[in-house]
Amino acid sequence: MKEKSFETQVLHTPFDKEDAYGSLSMPVYNTAAYEFDTAEAMEAAFCGRTADHAYSRITNPTVQYFERKIQAVTGAMSVTALNSGMAAISNTFIAIAQSGANVVTSAHLFGNTYSFLKNTLAAFGVEARCCDLTNIEEVRAQVDERTCAIFLEVITNPQLEVADLRALAAVAREKGVPLVADTTVIPFHVFSAKDCGVDIEIVSSTKYLSGGATSIGGLIVDYGTFDWSRSEKLAAMSREFGATTFTTKLRKEIHRNLGAYMTPQVAYMQTLGLETVAVRFERQASTCLELAKSLEKLSGVESVNYTGLESSPYYVLSTEQFGPIPGAMLTFDLVSREACFRFMNKLRLIRRATNLFDNKSLAIHPASTIYGSFTAEQRKSMDVSDKTIRLSVGLESLDDLLEDIVQALQ
Ligand SMILES: *Cc1c(COP(=O)(O)O)cnc(C)c1O
Repeated sequence: MKEKSFETQVLHTPFDKEDAYGSLSMPVYNTAAYEFDTAEAMEAAFCGRTADHAYSRITNPTVQYFERKIQAVTGAMSVTALNSGMAAISNTFIAIAQSGANVVTSAHLFGNTYSFLKNTLAAFGVEARCCDLTNIEEVRAQVDERTCAIFLEVITNPQLEVADLRALAAVAREKGVPLVADTTVIPFHVFSAKDCGVDIEIVSSTKYLSGGATSIGGLIVDYGTFDWSRSEKLAAMSREFGATTFTTKLRKEIHRNLGAYMTPQVAYMQTLGLETVAVRFERQASTCLELAKSLEKLSGVESVNYTGLESSPYYVLSTEQFGPIPGAMLTFDLVSREACFRFMNKLRLIRRATNLFDNKSLAIHPASTIYGSFTAEQRKSMDVSDKTIRLSVGLESLDDLLEDIVQALQ
């Protein structure tokens, strides 16, 4: 039988167990713990011989259903839902890194991710090696026998840089390190990380998936593709667990000990969001492309950055990897920081807020906010300019958005 489309599969993922009342949507199992009929059943569950739920820090039926849906549409071996994108990032690195190891990455990272690698992990003796991930030879030179991962964001923010995933995957294979990618800015139905050679995919489900910015969440998607016998930290474990080594380390140790599992209320909301992401994305991303083209013609706008514009240096690669409308986020430069502040303050419809892919359009001046606590020198090294505005395009009509932008530029 032909495999069903994303839109169909994501709606009709079966429950693990039939619901006692025939509920059509997965109920919110607001419970901390689960009761057992016998001591033997309890022992079996606690020792991992059965898949029964025991405690909601570890598994919960509502969260598991959300994980199942993601698994169905990505073809992943396993999915773990956590209570933020940052929890997904920190759990992943704590599972694969150890003192003395390094992560080969870029300085073009989400602010908290950069701080997590450069400050939090560094304090435990893990080095973040920032290099130019668009330069494959430079990446190859940075990877050594103590590298625990190559890590990147697939379209960086706010630089909108795109690295060649298949080329990075080839270096990762050759060197025996996993390729870990944060794909938050492009949803699953338009981009298959697995097909591009990503071993572990990380998503902040706060963004496209939550739908309407209802809640904070994160996902770790393990494709089961990496040979963990080549990992310094997990090689011994891999003899017993093979392809499931990372997930076993994560689910049996790291995620339990860090205690950042998704809550059932959030999983319920994000399940609803996931069911509509394809239609929302289509509308938001095509409005974004039209806005990007219009902005290029407006006076006062120095430059527009969107990888779906032919003027982007990543246009060809981005189209190959993510299709012709690569998401609903763009940036543009005005003449100065002061001009950016004036623009921000004059907006009437577009909201002044952080976050991405809310149903409402959002604008932010990244240098003074997300990167506000970095020094000017650090911002320069991260290519975060004082003259840049970031726009996350929502579901409003193109005309209304353009009108707001034009009046705010005056
Ligand atoms: C928002 C974001 C994160 C962090 O996710 P939270 O859910 O806010 O913790 C990580 N990476 C990218 C690319 C993001 O946009």
